Amino acid sequence: MSVSTSRRQFLMGLGLGASAIFAGLPKCLAQPAVEAAQKSIPLRLLNPNTREAYDLELFIGDQWNPVALQWCHWLMRDWRQQTAVECDRRLYAALYVLQRYFSENGRITINSGFRTQKTQEALREAGYGPAVNSLHLRAKAVDFTLPGVSMRNVARATWALKLGGVGYYEDMNFVHMDSRGAQARWADSFL
Ligand SMILES: [Zn+2]
Repeated sequence: MSVSTSRRQFLMGLGLGASAIFAGLPKCLAQPAVEAAQKSIPLRLLNPNTREAYDLELFIGDQWNPVALQWCHWLMRDWRQQTAVECDRRLYAALYVLQRYFSENGRITINSGFRTQKTQEALREAGYGPAVNSLHLRAKAVDFTLPGVSMRNVARATWALKLGGVGYYEDMNFVHMDSRGAQARWADSFL
């Protein structure tokens, strides 16, 4: 699936505004999020696997920017299979809040976003042991890091966002975040 053929699909169902997301944030994160929206600081993403880096205005006023969303989906694609799907946009909002909170000029490094079953099996064979019902398969998970920032603190803040699952991997210095709804945490302790 190329990004151009997916455009129409990506533009569908854009209902939820930024204010709706920010409304549910804990106090310590809500203010930076609101300031970020006011200052038009871009969401900065990097995919080290494909060496793509984008600076994106995720919101226009209190609306999602459909073009930015499309680029987010593209960056989150299964790069091994070159398959892009529409990922849960709340992940992007959360990444944006975290970037703004921890490092205004930082860039979120996305190690893994959406995964096809084929990639998941390849990872399993390679000994990475990904979860059988991984939310990556449903485009509701992202593994990321923020260079120069304590990922333990990032995991803590991610937990405070109450989006769903949080896995903190100290040795590999990344956080898994997913939007399963019910809160769950695993791997190394961070609270
Ligand atoms: Zn993950």
